[in-house]
Amino acid sequence: MTGLVIVGHGTRSAAGVDQFAALVERVRRRGDVADVEGGFIELSRPPLTDAVGALVARGHRAVAALPLVLTAAGHGKGDIPAAMGREQQRHPGLTYRYGRPLGPHPLLHDALEQRIDAALAGADHTDTAERAGTWVALIGRGSTDPDANAEVAKVARLLWEGRGYAGVEPGFISLAQPSVPAVLERLRRLGARRIVVAPYFLFAGVLPDRIVAQSAQFAAAHPDLDVRVAEVIGDCDALADLVLERYAEALGGDIRMNCDTCAYRVLMPGFADKVGRPQRPHDHPDDPVGGHHHQHHHGHDHHHDHGSVAVVGGGPGPDDLITVRAKALLDAADVVVVDRLAPQGLLAGLPPDVLVIDAAKVPRGPSMSQDAINAALVAHARAGRRVVRLKGGDPYVFGRGHEEVLACRAAGVPVSVVPGVSSAIAAPALAGVPVTHRGVAHDVTIVSGHLPPGHPDSLVDWAALARARGTVVLLMAVDTIAKIATVLIEHGRAPDTPVLAVQDAGLPHQRSVPARLDEIGAVAAREGIGPPAVFVLGPVAALTSTGPTN
Ligand code: SAH
Repeated sequence: MTGLVIVGHGTRSAAGVDQFAALVERVRRRGDVADVEGGFIELSRPPLTDAVGALVARGHRAVAALPLVLTAAGHGKGDIPAAMGREQQRHPGLTYRYGRPLGPHPLLHDALEQRIDAALAGADHTDTAERAGTWVALIGRGSTDPDANAEVAKVARLLWEGRGYAGVEPGFISLAQPSVPAVLERLRRLGARRIVVAPYFLFAGVLPDRIVAQSAQFAAAHPDLDVRVAEVIGDCDALADLVLERYAEALGGDIRMNCDTCAYRVLMPGFADKVGRPQRPHDHPDDPVGGHHHQHHHGHDHHHDHGSVAVVGGGPGPDDLITVRAKALLDAADVVVVDRLAPQGLLAGLPPDVLVIDAAKVPRGPSMSQDAINAALVAHARAGRRVVRLKGGDPYVFGRGHEEVLACRAAGVPVSVVPGVSSAIAAPALAGVPVTHRGVAHDVTIVSGHLPPGHPDSLVDWAALARARGTVVLLMAVDTIAKIATVLIEHGRAPDTPVLAVQDAGLPHQRSVPARLDEIGAVAAREGIGPPAVFVLGPVAALTSTGPTN
C-alpha cells in the first residue's frame, strides 16, 4: 500500500503544531492507510524530509503527498511540490502522487457550521431564529493569488446556502481585502447586531490569533454589537475523513483541480506576472538537511510566509494615502521598522504581537544609524520574520530605500519594494498646487535641499535649475531655503517667481504659506515653517486652487 505523507506549512504556534500532530495521529488510528507520516516544509518540527525519510526507511518507493491547506494558493501549488521534488533528489527512484487542497468541501462547511454554533453558545442547532439574527464573517488567510481568495468567497456562499444565517461575508486577515475590520464594518452597516467571526483556518496560528485580536478591537469600539469569534476547524473526524478522501482521490489519479481560473495559467487582470512563472522552492531554513541553498530572489509574492523584507512607501503621512499592497504587507508583518515621517496612525492598528522598531531619523537628533537599520532588517528576516520597512512617501525619493534593498540582497534576504505616494508630488497637490499644468510647466525637478548651494558634497546644479522655467520641488530645505532662493535669483530665476511652502501635508495641521522667491527665506522664518515641509517653486505655485476642496 502507498504510504501517506501529510504536509503542513508550519507555524510559530505550538498549539497549531499540536493540532497538526493530533490530526496525523487520528488519520493513523483510522487504519485505512497502512503508513502515515506528517511533516512541515518550514518553521515547525518534524520537517517534511524526516517524514518522507521515515516512509522510505520503511520500504516505500511511492507515496501520496497531501498538502494540508484549505485553498489552492502558493503553498499548495508551488512550495509543497517543490519540497517534494527536493525529497525525490534525496531519494532517487521515489515517486509520489500529489493530492489537491482540502477546500471547498461540504465536510469543511459542516465543521464551520458547528464551530459557529458553538460560538453562539447554547444556540440550538435547529434554532432558526438564532441563526436568522446572526451574520457570519468568514475570514480566510488571504493570498496574492486571486483564485485562492475567490475560493474563500465561494465557501462563504456555500456556508450561507440553506443554513439560515442572515448572511455570510468573506474577509481576509492578510494580503487581501476586505480586512477583518472592513468586513465587520460592512456587516454593521448592513444592520447586523450579532456577528460570528469564523476563521477559515485548519489550525491555531499567528494569523488566527490576529483575527481574534482584530475582532476584539472592533467589538470594543462597537459595544452595541455582539461579536463572537468561532474556533478554527481544528483536529476532528471530519478533517480526517477529508484527508482520507483526498488520499483515495490521489491514488485513483482523478484529481479534479480547477485550472480554469489559475493565475499561473490564465491571464487575469493585475496578475500578468504570474502566468507561466516557474514554481520554485523557498529556502526553508528549518529543513535540517540544509546544504541546498536557493539563491533565487522571490518575486513580489510569498515574502509573507518566509523571512523577507519589504521596503514600503507609506505615503506622505495620513493613514489612507498608503497603497493597498503596502497596507496588506503591513497587516501581515511580524516586524515593522518605521521612520518618523511614515504614517504613524497605521501603527496603532497593528496587533499587539507585532514588533515595531522606531528608526526615527530626527534631524540631528538621536536615531538609528543606517547600518543599524540594515542590520535589523537582515537579522529579523533571517529569523524567518516578515519585515516591513515602512518609510514616508516613496522609498526611493530621498528615502535611502535602495541602500536597504542592496543590504538585504547582499545578505541573501528576499526583498521587494513597494512604491509610495511621494510628498514631492502629494504635498503640493494637497495644498492645491499641480506640479505640472498644461501650458504652464512641462517639467518638474525634485531637489534635496539638505546641503546648501556651494557645499562641497552637493550634487545639485543650482545654476541649471535657475535657468530652467518649470517647477522645482525642494525637500529637506527648511534650513537652506533662504540660501537656495538667493542662489537661484543670482543665476537668473525671476525674483517674483511664486513659491508655496507646504508643511505637514495631509495631516490635520497642514498649512501652506505663499511668498515670492526673493522673500521666501524671510517669510518661512517669520512664519516658523518647520519640517516636514516642501517648497514648490515656479509658475504652478500661483495656481493654488481657491475653490472648495475635498
Ligand atoms: N521619501 C519621502 C521623502 C523623504 S525626505 C517622500 O517621498 O515623500 C523627507 C522630506 O520629505 C521632508 O524634509 C519634507 O521635505 C518631505 N515631506 C515628507 N512628508 C511630508 C509631509 N507630510 N508634508 C510636507 N513635506 C513632507
